[in-house]
Amino acid sequence: MIRPILIHPDPRLKKPADPVVTVDDDLRTLAADMLETMYDAPGIGLAAPQIGVMQRVLVMDCVKEEGAEPRPMVLINPEVTWTSDEVSVYEEGCLSIPEQYADVERPAEVKVAWTDLDGAARSEHFTGLWATCVQHEIDHLDGKLFIDYLKPLKRQMITRKMQKLKRERARA
Ligand SMILES: [Zn+2]
Repeated sequence: MIRPILIHPDPRLKKPADPVVTVDDDLRTLAADMLETMYDAPGIGLAAPQIGVMQRVLVMDCVKEEGAEPRPMVLINPEVTWTSDEVSVYEEGCLSIPEQYADVERPAEVKVAWTDLDGAARSEHFTGLWATCVQHEIDHLDGKLFIDYLKPLKRQMITRKMQKLKRERARA
């Protein structure tokens, strides 16, 4: 089921999410809905708070090559366990901040540990777009948006645009 995506500003996007205690069928349904919502948007990552569910769950699929096998990933209670000293700059966007993009600098590579949908412990070393995406999504679980890395003036300009967009959508 495709769920509505919250648009910034929204208090739920600024609030840390709660750890998942049990991996059950409700959580598996949530993960399936999140993947469906992400692919429909379309986007490469989505965190549960973006659909108003305050739990530490994110989904992503950064396979972009035409015709390549998709790689849907579901990360429960993800934690960054290592970051590279090397940084990289990506022009980031966000499904909760439509059509706004800005350069964000982050560690180029990260190791992340998480629980999978079977309740098993997993970890992986992410590089490239995957590394940027997983850090962006984990930020969502901590109530942080990519615009929080920008200078205040730029952030305020984007926030005003989003307020206007929300007013227009409410009227439509
Ligand atoms: Zn985002």
